[in-house]
Amino acid sequence: MTSDAPSIFTRIIDREIPADIVFEDDRIIAIRDINPQAEVHLLVVPKRPDFRDVTELAAGDPALLADMVGVAKQLAERFADGQFRLVFNNGPEAGQTVFHVHAHVLAGDLSEGRLA
Ligand code: 5GP
Repeated sequence: MTSDAPSIFTRIIDREIPADIVFEDDRIIAIRDINPQAEVHLLVVPKRPDFRDVTELAAGDPALLADMVGVAKQLAERFADGQFRLVFNNGPEAGQTVFHVHAHVLAGDLSEGRLA
């Protein structure tokens, strides 16, 4: 389920608003988080907008979820030492603010972040 208004990530995918894009293929985009909570804080986002959170994605397109994990690993190797924390916030009480599924990739120095 999605609301009618395009999410902030769809607007980035459609180049309506700018972002620092670090990866893109036909199904996934990855950007730097605008409010980083770690030395490396990236968001890995499927382009299809119809999954609100990772539970919906896992049920609806598990191969896409697996591909997101692969992209996260590749980015952690590129921007840090290959080790990373993968965070999915599920629901507003858990801190989710954008209801277009996305993975937070946190790497490098994690000591200062709210998610650390
Ligand atoms: P959530 O709280 O839904 O798990 O994560 C949403 C994330 O999107 C937040 O970490 C927030 O900083 C990031 N974010 C929100 N708006 C923008 C934006 O316009 N550009 C980028 N690059 N990140 C954004």
